[in-house]
Amino acid sequence: MTLDQKKLDMETIVSLCKRRGFIFQSSEIYGGLASTWDYGPLGSELKRNVKDAWWKAVVHNRDDVVGLDAAILMHPETWRASGHAENFTDLLVDDKKTKKRYRYDHLSEEEKAKVGTEYTEPRAFNLMLQTSLGAMEDSSSKVYLRPETAQGIFVNFKNVIDATSRKLPFGIAQIGKSFRNEITAGNFTFRMREFEQMEIEYFTNPEEAEEFYKQWIETRFNWYTDLGIRKENLRLREHAKDELAHYARGCTDVEYQFPFGWSELEGIADRTDYDLKQHAQFSGKDLQYHDQVNNKKFYPYVIEPSGGVDRATLAFLVDAYHEEDVEGSKRVVLKFDKKLAPIKVAVLPLLKKNAGIVELAKKIKTDLQSNLTCTYNDTAAIGKLYRRQDEVGTVYCVTVDVDSLEDKQVTVRDRDTMKQERIPLDNLKSYLVEKLS
Ligand code: ATP
Repeated sequence: MTLDQKKLDMETIVSLCKRRGFIFQSSEIYGGLASTWDYGPLGSELKRNVKDAWWKAVVHNRDDVVGLDAAILMHPETWRASGHAENFTDLLVDDKKTKKRYRYDHLSEEEKAKVGTEYTEPRAFNLMLQTSLGAMEDSSSKVYLRPETAQGIFVNFKNVIDATSRKLPFGIAQIGKSFRNEITAGNFTFRMREFEQMEIEYFTNPEEAEEFYKQWIETRFNWYTDLGIRKENLRLREHAKDELAHYARGCTDVEYQFPFGWSELEGIADRTDYDLKQHAQFSGKDLQYHDQVNNKKFYPYVIEPSGGVDRATLAFLVDAYHEEDVEGSKRVVLKFDKKLAPIKVAVLPLLKKNAGIVELAKKIKTDLQSNLTCTYNDTAAIGKLYRRQDEVGTVYCVTVDVDSLEDKQVTVRDRDTMKQERIPLDNLKSYLVEKLS
């Protein structure tokens, strides 16, 4: 029997993440820092796998997208051109009694009616974090920690074209840290002040933008389901006209059904030619695309699939979580897609006091680890070791027993079916590599 996923609460996930080393509160020994989190030994592997899967899907497996890794700190004019300096604000209200601060757009209609009485009037609050560069701390040294990675792409549009001779349509993809001084932070890693984004700016002819907007919505939705997210937990939500930025023609969010409700994982927007025009105006540089075939210069339109690494990682964790009843006892298993699982293979000696078994098990691990992420563990009895590996989503367990020393075979156990198979040592690596590729 599998647990009804709807009954899952975030506390279960948060506590598993801490206990098993996926995610820790940042600077916990000092009491933590609100809305910042650290990824532990398993979490850092998981997050890296999420980023690798994204990069492979949108850069390596396509002919029309190239990568970029721009700096977090950018010229302050960037943020005037992008509108962030002026408009990147949340409207906030204070509860007059409790002094707690809320985002106006997160209030219910009932609560909004109390603005002016129980809540203060909404005030605009800029979300960008600032720091200063150099020896002097004056207004000329002020820079921002980027609130999105996208602008690093726009300001490099010309450089990428000059360096790669790309023709439309083409995209530039990047993964990197972004910072926002979120006021109503919370819900674990869903809303953080320091987080990672994975963004693509896809440049097209204006006439083709509508078609690519639709294609990217489908492509990005399928990326999540191809990596194991259940379709019933994923949906698309198209923004109403009054939700759109003034320059955007359309925006559709990919939402996941978290225990705290449907929430945005990623937005796919048709941003028209707004960004390049803004940067051209503020920098005084010609950022038009030169169509050499028709000898025409124009500003391309941009389709922007913009997702969060941390939100995707959290969705993969939540969706992988299963509780099963196995012969009267509870088995917790993270059924990650094999590409995302932090550990692919655990090598376990059946008897840790038998030197021959231990030696063989360690040798197997050394042999496998150049191809697969492996672990070795001999700290408990085999039943317990299996459960521990299930709980972190390890795809296969390889058990070395007394017979292995004689017949040169080991037992391979599958995480999902719990079925066990004897595999000759000579074939073990190719067997596992094939299963896991
Ligand atoms: P929200 O409405 O939830 O504040 P947003 O619409 O402002 O999100 P975008 O500016 O579109 O978010 O950013 C693109 C993506 O970056 C989001 O879909 C999300 O995955 C991620 N992201 C944005 N803010 C945060 C945050 N504070 N913590 C973690 N991820 C974030």
